[in-house]
Order: sequence, then structure tokens, then C-alpha cells
Amino acid sequence: MDRIKHTGPKLWTNLHESVISMTSDLITSGNARVGTILEKYNETAEDIALLLSETLHSQKKIRPCGGKWSITPVAFEKTAIIETDHLNLRWTPASSETNPTFIQDPKNLLFAQCGAKIKSLSIYLRDRKKSLKASGASNGQTIAGAISCGTHGSAIDFGSIHDSVVGLNIIVNKNKNYYIQRASRPIMNETFAASIQAKLINDDDLFNAAVVSMGCFGFIHGVMLETEDWFMLKNYTKNITLQDAELLMNTLQFDAVNLPTGAESGQRPYHFKLLINPFNPTKNPKAEILYKKPGPDKYIRPALNDESTYPKDALGFIAKITQNIPGSDRLTINLLESSIFPKDIDGAEALLYDTFSDTSLHGKTFACAIGIPLDKTHQTLTSLLKLIDNHGSIPAIFALRFIKKSNALMAFSRFEHTCVFEIDGVRNQNMSDYIKKIPAILRQNNIPFTFHWGKDNPADQAMIAEMYGASLTLWINQKSKIMNSPEAAMFSNDYTDHLGLDDWTPEYEEYV
Ligand SMILES: Cc1cc2nc3c(=O)[nH]c(=O)nc-3n(C[C@H](O)[C@H](O)[C@H](O)COP(=O)(O)OP(=O)(O)OC[C@H]3O[C@@H](n4cnc5c(N)ncnc54)[C@H](O)[C@@H]3O)c2cc1C
Repeated sequence: MDRIKHTGPKLWTNLHESVISMTSDLITSGNARVGTILEKYNETAEDIALLLSETLHSQKKIRPCGGKWSITPVAFEKTAIIETDHLNLRWTPASSETNPTFIQDPKNLLFAQCGAKIKSLSIYLRDRKKSLKASGASNGQTIAGAISCGTHGSAIDFGSIHDSVVGLNIIVNKNKNYYIQRASRPIMNETFAASIQAKLINDDDLFNAAVVSMGCFGFIHGVMLETEDWFMLKNYTKNITLQDAELLMNTLQFDAVNLPTGAESGQRPYHFKLLINPFNPTKNPKAEILYKKPGPDKYIRPALNDESTYPKDALGFIAKITQNIPGSDRLTINLLESSIFPKDIDGAEALLYDTFSDTSLHGKTFACAIGIPLDKTHQTLTSLLKLIDNHGSIPAIFALRFIKKSNALMAFSRFEHTCVFEIDGVRNQNMSDYIKKIPAILRQNNIPFTFHWGKDNPADQAMIAEMYGASLTLWINQKSKIMNSPEAAMFSNDYTDHLGLDDWTPEYEEYV
């Protein structure tokens, strides 16, 4: 049976229907049904390599897509799309396959095929009393898709999902199958690379470029993740005083405030998030404060609420009202605030997997996430509230999450601690117009900024250059280590071209 299927021209849409268009060839992929896990993985690698070589030969473009959770067209290409969500093998490598300098427990490594969903990886790990180090707010992304756009939660002293990646198996064509890891921290050895028929490359800059690469650095077939022993998250979701919120949003100084979290007050949490109603900004905001606790001997799953972010009915209701009664955003959000924001939680404990679980949020929602330096958060909040006064109301609420700086060259978490300033709401022209005004406001206030690659943003080539500066040049230069110019063009699309990510320079010799 063919594992790669060309289904021809098809209408393609992402989860939130923000991108709907024809692809000239929708390609599905799957693993063999028989054979060892390694045989299946390597057979699929050969299929992918052949597909890429044929695509290159016919001078077409190709874009892998994962869970289709990106709201921007980053995963969309009008010519060919390869769906990867059936490529979900995963295994724990043997200790004989690790580099002698890796002295940690090899059971903390997990090799995942690109299309494995965050949820399925978490279940695999949970069954072994292990856990991912971080996740997004919910779990439907594929591992390759999640890291490619920098998916993050609010793990204040860890970072994002891609910060737990320690190796990437990347295929460019039938002669270029690489296993790339940092030279400064090589985790796997030649035996491992040979087992997946890949050439081992130890190279910090290349690794840091490829780990967040928006589909432009070839087909990521496998991702090596560093995991840890499972842990519980003790959840306090409560209103905190405005004074404490304002201090924390700029400093994350938890020993300087008195949070309503009982014995944990004063300790540094694992996760911190603030939810702010822009139409009632002087109200004490709702905070999600999660403390890390050791994993239990035996875990009993708590009763789950599947609305891990905003309840879909509330957002749908806002959409209906605001579309029918223009200018009603302010009133609607004030009336519905208690059903939009999460309910209070007082110390309930669950694994990471159950804390950031399924979401049923579908439909035409709008989501923008701006990265700013931690100490500029309050100033940004004030500026964006003022912008609402000038622009007019928007059907949205604000959320602030916080993450540690990433080493990935194009991670939007590029400040020492990045506040991810989120503007979530209903998709309409008014929201797009508001977002377009943000860069000018931030520049006026001398606030450096970035935007999430997978979420609504007003960025263009000049803005990306402004945000990433020398990191962008270094990122572009790394491409020529593993791909030539036609190969780089094959992995670009309209969206990445528009952002200036399609550039290629003959800076380095290729690793061939
Ligand atoms: C309900 C919802 C909740 C979300 N929550 C969060 C959150 O909490 N935090 C956050 O940061 N983001 C969040 N996002 C955004 C989302 O996590 C990112 O956009 C993520 O990149 C989507 O992953 P995906 O598997 O769906 O990949 P896709 O959206 O399908 O693709 C994303 C990128 O990955 C590339 N790609 C996919 N597979 C491969 C591969 N095998 N090789 C090379 N490139 C590949 C694609 O070409 C594309 O450039 C959310 C989105 C939704 C819809």
C-alpha cells in the first residue's frame, strides 16, 4: 500500500478557518503497518526523501503541515502540502546510543516522529512517570509543528516546548538526511544517527536556527526531546490585587507580594498568567499561579474541564452580539467577563498533561501574541489600553504569559524574560485594524517587540529584520549549511516570503 498519497487539488483550511484556499496537491503520509519501529521510521524517511527529490526536480514547492493550529498561513502553500499527523512513532533511545558526555538518565530522552501530537507524547510519558518540561495552553499541536512556530506556555523559568529539544532529524532530499544537535551539548552518538540513516552534525548555530524555523529548514522527521520525572502542578486561579499584579508583571518578584496561595505565597511558581479585561482594567485581575510539586506514586486523574482556555460558547456569543450590534464589545465583555475568564481554583493538583489539556475552541477566533521585555510590560499595557481609547473598542481580552529567553535564533521569546502579551477575541476587521497600529505605538514608547509566528500579526520583511537583527542574518546563513538555493526555495511559501524568511546566502559549505 502506498504510504504517500497524492490526493490532488483540495480546499485546505486550518483549525480556526483563518486560512481557506486551494492547494494544488494535498499529500497524505503514513507509516508502514508491519516491521519494527525503526524499520517503519526509516521506510517513511525514504518515502519523504523521494517525495522531496521529486518535488525539487519538478521545481515545485512543498510545505509540511502539522496539527493546522497556526492561525497565520505559515503552514499553507498553494502548490503542495504534506500532512504529517499520521507520522506518530516515538521511542526512548538506548543508553548505548547517547554521547559519553551525557550523564543524565537516558530514560529522560524521547524521540518523537514529527506528527506525534503533544497529547499522545504526554500520554506516552505519563505511562512511564515522565513529563514534558513545558507545553502550550492545550495539546493538539504536532511536535514538529509546535516547535516550528515557538509554542510556549507560561513556564517562567524554563521556556517553551522547543527549549526542551536536543536533536532534530531533518530531511532535505534523498541524499540529505541529517541528525543535528548542539556541539556544546551533544546528546546522541554516531550509533543513533546511523540507526536512522542520518549524518550526524554537531553545530550550535545550525541547531539554534533549525529548531524554530517555520517550515523553512527542510522536513523535520524526528525530534529528540529531553523530558523529566512527572510532576504535579498545584493550581491557584484567583483574583489578585492590582498592586501585586502590576509589580509581578514587570518583575516576577514573587517574594515581594502576598498572593492568596496559602503556604506557597512568596514562593516562585512554575507558571504565572494574568487575565485582564481591557474595559475594566483597574479591577483586580484574574491570575493563574501554578506551583511545581513532586509527582505522586500513584496518580488519580482529576475530573476534567475541557475548556482549557476561553470557553467557546462565551466567545461565540461575543462574536454574535458584536457582529449584530456594532460597538457593543465593551458592554458584552463586561457582562460576560465571569464566563470568559477561568473559574476560581484553590490548590487543585494535576499533572502538566491534565492541566494543559484538550480544547474544544473552534471557529473564527482571533489571536495575537506580542513578545516584549518583562520590564516593559506595564508600559505596554498602558499603551495598548490607550490605543483602545483612540481606536475604539475591540472584541477581545488581554492575557499576559511569561517565558524565559530561548537560545533559538528566531524564537519570539528573545528577551531575558519575555512577557507574551496576548490579545484574544473575535475575528473581524476592527481587530486587524487595531493590531496594525500596535508596532507604531510600541516604537513611540521605545519598547522592542516580536510577534508569535503562528498567530495573527501585522509583520512584514522590514519588521522581522527590525525584531531579529543579526539573529535573522545568522539564521539565513545557516540554511546554506544543509540546503542549496533551489532547496531553500522549495521550503518557502508566500507567507515566509512576505516576512523575508526565504532569503538564502551562499555563506557556508554544505554538510554533504
Ligand atoms: C486552540 C489553540 C491554542 C493554542 N495555544 C497556544 C499556546 O498556548 N501557546 C502558543 O505558543 N501557541 C498556541 N497556539 C498556536 C500553535 O501552538 C502554533 O501555531 C503551532 O505552531 C501549531 O502547531 P501545529 O502542529 O498545528 O503546526 P501547523 O500549524 O500545522 O504548522 C506550523 C508550522 O510548522 C511547520 N511544520 C509542521 N510540521 C513540520 C515538519 N514535519 N517539518 C518542518 N516543518 C513543519 C509548518 O510548515 C508551519 O510552518 C494555539 C493555537 C490554537 C489553535
